Amino acid sequence: MTTKEEIVKKAIEKTIKNGWHKKFITNVSKVTVECNDGKYWLCGDNGLTVKNIGEIEVILFDHSFCKAFWGTKKVCSDCGGSDLEGSDYVGISECTECDNSYILQEWELYIKQLALAEDRLEYIKQFI
Ligand SMILES: [Zn+2]
Repeated sequence: MTTKEEIVKKAIEKTIKNGWHKKFITNVSKVTVECNDGKYWLCGDNGLTVKNIGEIEVILFDHSFCKAFWGTKKVCSDCGGSDLEGSDYVGISECTECDNSYILQEWELYIKQLALAEDRLEYIKQFI
């Protein structure tokens, strides 16, 4: 059983490892998650004082957060496959699985699914 706070902390740790930076996170072990009025807030410190960084629901849709969390590998928008044929140079790629030619970066694919998820923390749990 993973609590929502644990999910958030693991997700934040993963993105920081992948280069996501946010003012007031000087020490990942000091990052805390507080629940207030049913909303989850990320808190960090600037070395001296604890600061409220932002609401988790908002941070989850921060593009720089998503890039660090899911990565920027190119995938097929239909099947999520990464076996693509073609050239980046001319901007044409095609999925070898389903012949779809609409290619996204992984984070773009998942942010769409995240937006549709009923429970967003439950959704990101599978990636931490
Ligand atoms: Zn495909």
